[in-house]
Amino acid sequence: MKKRRLKKWAVALLIGLVVFAIALYLLISYIIKINSNPYKLSKLGYKDDEVTKIVNILSDEQIKNDILTMSYDENLDDIVSERYFIYANLKRYLYYRKLNNVSATAVVTMVNANRDRDYYSNMEETDTSKDTLMLVNKYYYLKEDYVPSDLVDIATTYAYSGNQMRSVAYDDLKSMFNDAKTAGYTLIVNSAYRSYDWQKTVYNSRKVAYGLTYADKYVARPGNSEHQTGLALDIVEYGSKTEFKDTDAYKWLADNAYKYGFIERYVESQEEVTGFSAEAWHYRYVGKDAAKTIHQTGLSFDEYYAYYVLNKSNWL
Ligand SMILES: [Zn+2]
Repeated sequence: MKKRRLKKWAVALLIGLVVFAIALYLLISYIIKINSNPYKLSKLGYKDDEVTKIVNILSDEQIKNDILTMSYDENLDDIVSERYFIYANLKRYLYYRKLNNVSATAVVTMVNANRDRDYYSNMEETDTSKDTLMLVNKYYYLKEDYVPSDLVDIATTYAYSGNQMRSVAYDDLKSMFNDAKTAGYTLIVNSAYRSYDWQKTVYNSRKVAYGLTYADKYVARPGNSEHQTGLALDIVEYGSKTEFKDTDAYKWLADNAYKYGFIERYVESQEEVTGFSAEAWHYRYVGKDAAKTIHQTGLSFDEYYAYYVLNKSNWL
């Protein structure tokens, strides 16, 4: 009799414990769920497929600290999915997209190249420690007294007399021109290193002759010219009267320059990105690794710099 009563009591206790455990489990699950990023994102208005993209690409910290503090944005999932998305630019992307009805790819391209900002505004002194990867454009400048430390005279076999460039790129230039010659094209440099004062003279003479808008379209302001880096070269075909972009020599150079570490810097399809009109003759030395990536991806150097140079982690 006593034994049986004890058994009943034990069974009741067991059932009670199981019920309690299930209730506790459900409660904990619920608490975890309402505190999870996916749940909070869906509460903000993100649809299931958007939530999936966002949690797969952004870290828990990024979602918690930034995304959940902003209101729903219908463009967010497309923008974070972009190949060259840079997290630090997120708010600029969203703002740019609000003002411009363009694709997510165009948003990322333009913002990475700083084109959401006006030319010559928010200017930053370029980081010359990046060496052959330093970026000089309408947003990054070189100081008036910046002179490359390794300038060498370019032999008259390769350039009109009086031209100098950085020695770090000179051997590659010689190889490139020698190989072009073997292919049947005689290339020559007609302008290479230009000092700050020299650029100032060039820019001011254009400004006086044609006005500010014209000068800014075709000539960089002093401090904003790649020629001051000693890594930029204006190249033409020796003795040719045809416009360089219409020559076979140009085609050879455009196809092969990357093998020697050079890139065509201002191409027609990227005028809006680089901020410069196409210049078929203007080549920039960036080293072989960067030139190869730029050749393969079709990125402008401005975008390359933002994604690969400033954000080293993107290499991983
Ligand atoms: Zn040039």
